Amino acid sequence: MLIRRLLWLSVCCGLAVCEHNGNDTDGETTATHPLLLVSFDGFRADYLKMYSFPHLQNFFSDGVRVDHLTNVFTTKTFPNHYSLVTGLYAESHGILASRMYDPQTNKTFTIGSDDPYWWDEATPIWVSVQNSGYKSAAAMWPGSDLKIQNHTATHFFHYNPKVTFKERLGNLTSWLKNDPEVRFAALYWEEPDRTGHMYGPDNTAEMSKALREVDDNIGLLMEQLQQAGLWGRINIILTSDHGMAQCSQERLIKLDSCISRTEYLVVDLTPVAAIIPQNSTAVSRVFSLLNKCHPHMKAYMKADIPERLHYKHNDRIQPIILVADEGWTIIQNGSLPRLGDHGYDNSLPSMHPFLAAHGPAFRKGYHLSGFNSIDIYPLMCHLLGIPALPNNGSFVKVRCMLVNETCADLAVTVGVVIGVLIVLTTLTCLFRLMKGRGPSPSRPFARLQLQDDDDDDPLLD
Ligand SMILES: [Zn+2]
Repeated sequence: MLIRRLLWLSVCCGLAVCEHNGNDTDGETTATHPLLLVSFDGFRADYLKMYSFPHLQNFFSDGVRVDHLTNVFTTKTFPNHYSLVTGLYAESHGILASRMYDPQTNKTFTIGSDDPYWWDEATPIWVSVQNSGYKSAAAMWPGSDLKIQNHTATHFFHYNPKVTFKERLGNLTSWLKNDPEVRFAALYWEEPDRTGHMYGPDNTAEMSKALREVDDNIGLLMEQLQQAGLWGRINIILTSDHGMAQCSQERLIKLDSCISRTEYLVVDLTPVAAIIPQNSTAVSRVFSLLNKCHPHMKAYMKADIPERLHYKHNDRIQPIILVADEGWTIIQNGSLPRLGDHGYDNSLPSMHPFLAAHGPAFRKGYHLSGFNSIDIYPLMCHLLGIPALPNNGSFVKVRCMLVNETCADLAVTVGVVIGVLIVLTTLTCLFRLMKGRGPSPSRPFARLQLQDDDDDDPLLD
């Protein structure tokens, strides 16, 4: 029975042994604290090791630090911001790239598009918050100013890149402070993505300037929340959508050198190109030309896109996709468009963002190496006390960040189970051995009985 219980414990908890302890340390339940989700676009995970972040360090020391998140493919801004607030892979939420074509409606999507149609395949968390009877607030978070499932965020801005971080933060803080029904708030900032594209992540002089400003903004955020009386009462998740890779004029893949433009339409170009052959009968010819075009570019027929990318089951994915190797740029002809780019394979560390968390629900001074970015959605639903919609994420690893959960990692769990099994097996063997050596009054009689059933030896009497 003990063995069965131990096995059940390890199976039911999956990768971690966890236990929920009820309320927060301050006596309030988790769901009574508001939650703020902040994204600094293009904050590559290893910037944390390469540059100094005094304010962020302060935030970590009293909260949780996660070194890297495995984000979703394509590692672009819109797909990943929508995955953070839905817990879905891009193929499931429908925001697959920065440029898309929908064959059902003949519509085209660009990042300036304000048609909510594109976002309606999923329900972002701010809509779920509102459906649960609370309010939400968003400052420029992608999609938050559109009527997705017929709702914008309760308080929101229309997207305008000229609005400063300070203005966005100021509005968000006052919405949180003055409207106690606001339970979820989301804040988006364009840096360090903008600088990463312009100068490339290898330009340490420019990147350190941009990252210092990001860190100053984190300091400002902590200060404003303190002034509003929210610091220590609000749960905060700081994260990003993707990283950044260095590109080069020496790493160009020119489609014009492989195939005539009359043979295909291009929906999106780099580093993941979405290609529609002009003539549906010539799909295999177009594929074959693109497939042998360049050793640093992979071509996939839609049906053959690797399962691990979770980028296949959606009408908005085109018949052929091309994926450039890290740091390579696909163009038709001409010169390098950007010194830094993202969108590459989501298994590349350079594409991964980081995460930091702080607040009454989170452990203090806790460190985790990583998990999937889609796991943030079930975590946020848990913190808000609202039901999570069907999603691709998992609560198993992220729950270890929470102060109310007792957590041990897989290695410890397996070690304990194996150790207990060895001890129990040894004890059982010893017990049987001892029993075998001791006097056993029934054994000789049984043997005699087997030898001859009709034996009337007086010993049997
Ligand atoms: Zn970008």
